[in-house]
Amino acid sequence: MSNYNIAIDGPAGAGKSTIAKSVAKKLGFIYVDTGAMYRAMALYFLRMGIDSNDQQRIEEACKDVNVTIEYRNNEQIVLLNGENVNGLIRTEEVGNMASASSVYKAVRLKLVELQRELAKNENVIMDGREIGTFVLPNADLKIYLTASSRERARRRWSELKERGIDADIDEIEEDIITRDNRDMNREFAPLKKADDAILIDSSDLTVDQVIDKIVKYHNKNIKNKEA
Ligand code: C5P
Repeated sequence: MSNYNIAIDGPAGAGKSTIAKSVAKKLGFIYVDTGAMYRAMALYFLRMGIDSNDQQRIEEACKDVNVTIEYRNNEQIVLLNGENVNGLIRTEEVGNMASASSVYKAVRLKLVELQRELAKNENVIMDGREIGTFVLPNADLKIYLTASSRERARRRWSELKERGIDADIDEIEEDIITRDNRDMNREFAPLKKADDAILIDSSDLTVDQVIDKIVKYHNKNIKNKEA
């Protein structure tokens, strides 16, 4: 088997990265977190003091950004112009900028070749918003992972609570809905389920149940390919 690719798409907070990471470990695949790449680009725009609505400056800035990735101990390291930015991209500020700046075609085109190159050379499980529809339209297995906005907000709220941060669940849900709308309604490569993707609604499933389902779909797929 060579270069088997799994695409996992879905809205913010559906659990894609947790699940993709575990599935990758079980199958011995490389996990590619495309959101981290958009976050690295966003960090660059923030550092340059660029407004997320300033399309022209964002497009110009794209010429000076180089996002690459490396794997150390099976962990994806995102390099922004050579600097390891893994520890800097998980903030709300960067997340908001990533959500706003990823609507621009110039930003997306900057990353798509890198993503395709990775999938060409390795067995990958790649998560994002448009992996099955645009980045890897020929992926061997496509999953569209979602959950209700309330459940996604509840998960985020309890994550924050565990870290001792008090947050308002209604505000979190509103933010999730705003991001969904932006991702689903952008002109270029919007978030949508590919026709040949398997829909998994994780609202009433545990993480392990979702992982099991995906591994089963994968095994079934392999059998069908061998038959
Ligand atoms: O998945 P994560 O929250 O890290 O992604 C950050 C932002 O990057 C998302 O809000 C989404 O708008 C954008 N994104 C995207 N396409 C991808 C991955 C992420 O537009 N493939």
